[in-house]
Amino acid sequence: MESKRLKKIPEKMTIPLKQHEGTICEPIVKKGDQVLIGQKIGQSTSYYSSDVHSSVCGEVLAVEEAPHPNGNKVLSVIIQPTDSMETVEFVPKENASQSELIALMQEAGIVEHYGAPTHTVLKPEGKKIDLVLINSTASEWIGGKYKTPNEYASQMMDALKLLMKAAEASKGAIIIRQDDKESIEAFEGVDVNGKTLKVAPLVGKRRLGHYFEDQDSNIIVASQERIYGKKILNFFTYNVTGRKVRIGCDPTDVGVAVCGVKSAKALYDAVYEGKPYYETVINVEGMVGCPEYMLVRIGTPFKDIIETCDFKGEIGKIVANGVITGVAQYTDEVPVTKGTTRITLLTKEEVLRDQPVACIHCARCVDVCPVSLVPSRLNVMADQGRFDECRQMHIGNCIECGRCAVVCPSRIHILQLIRYAKNAIEKAYADAAPKESSNLKLGCCGGE
Ligand code: SF4
Ligand code: SF4
Repeated sequence: MESKRLKKIPEKMTIPLKQHEGTICEPIVKKGDQVLIGQKIGQSTSYYSSDVHSSVCGEVLAVEEAPHPNGNKVLSVIIQPTDSMETVEFVPKENASQSELIALMQEAGIVEHYGAPTHTVLKPEGKKIDLVLINSTASEWIGGKYKTPNEYASQMMDALKLLMKAAEASKGAIIIRQDDKESIEAFEGVDVNGKTLKVAPLVGKRRLGHYFEDQDSNIIVASQERIYGKKILNFFTYNVTGRKVRIGCDPTDVGVAVCGVKSAKALYDAVYEGKPYYETVINVEGMVGCPEYMLVRIGTPFKDIIETCDFKGEIGKIVANGVITGVAQYTDEVPVTKGTTRITLLTKEEVLRDQPVACIHCARCVDVCPVSLVPSRLNVMADQGRFDECRQMHIGNCIECGRCAVVCPSRIHILQLIRYAKNAIEKAYADAAPKESSNLKLGCCGGE
């Protein structure tokens, strides 16, 4: 299914100057200025930041704090769009060198959906990357504006080579979902350095290293089960590479850069079309009459997307980025940002949840935890403020997938309690060294 473009131009666009982790951008437009599509409106002031561009043609109404889907108010450029489709001149940079690619990513405003500016993932200060991964397990082939699966496979392969060049990495892999048959078919048979590609299943103890050798190639495509969760990066890295990431560290600490399909596509567009990152594909759920995937301009208020859909019933809650791990919104004025992956509408009935009751020790939460934690214990200790014990039980390994809360027959708010404890621990141990862990499934000792 092809993603559909949201045709309606909203009356007002709100483009936050911070859509990434790190430093907020400096506004470089002011009230009354006219802007074009793709024009830079926010300038990075540090390496750990990423430029921001206008997604419409129009007049700047204000530069002020506005609601952001992360729940805070963020300095934003408010634009009144016109019907004009005039863009700034897009200049492709097909022969960009390694350092030019890094600069291009920052200038084109490319960030990962989990917040990190992509250039900082590929070239983290003081670290060396030898392996680049594109995690495509959360999106089918259309999740990045492609007309056909073959176009997706070919562009992703080109994007991977660009990412590897930018990172100066010797190896690269695209990880797709094992039930995403269309993508698997599209990748099978692609020519890589004169060899026909074969999608490698990550089963048993076979990690990427095995297939790099088996296929005698520095670029491979592998398939595995979908992993979801808010903090999956370390777990994902361990699962596909066998490299263990310490609690408090991230994959770049073991030489791995994990990028998403959207940022890979954004880099492809920046290099081959000269386009900055000003529109994104989101998934809309809970609405009738909406395509599953929608291509929208960054800065579009949620309400303008919701209006185009035929929602049955009274809206009880709007959630950004998934009902289990996302953030419930207090207003539909919040805009789509580079970090928005989905919008979910729930009816009032769907929002109602019975009161939690006592744990019946059924261990269902233990059975479903993908990183071998004991959520029933963590939940009790978090509730009692016993954070040191939570830490000893490796609460930091929780990827916040929410499976424990979903299966709990006692309707205990396990995930919220775990997050509460993790936040408290993060504050208390802000200056502590990364913690070693003996958690068997995830492991946290570094190295392969
Ligand atoms: S504790 Fe719960 S939310 Fe955390 S990883 Fe395990 S199942 Fe997922
Ligand atoms: S699933 Fe719920 S009731 Fe069962 S052990 Fe876990 S916390 Fe207790």
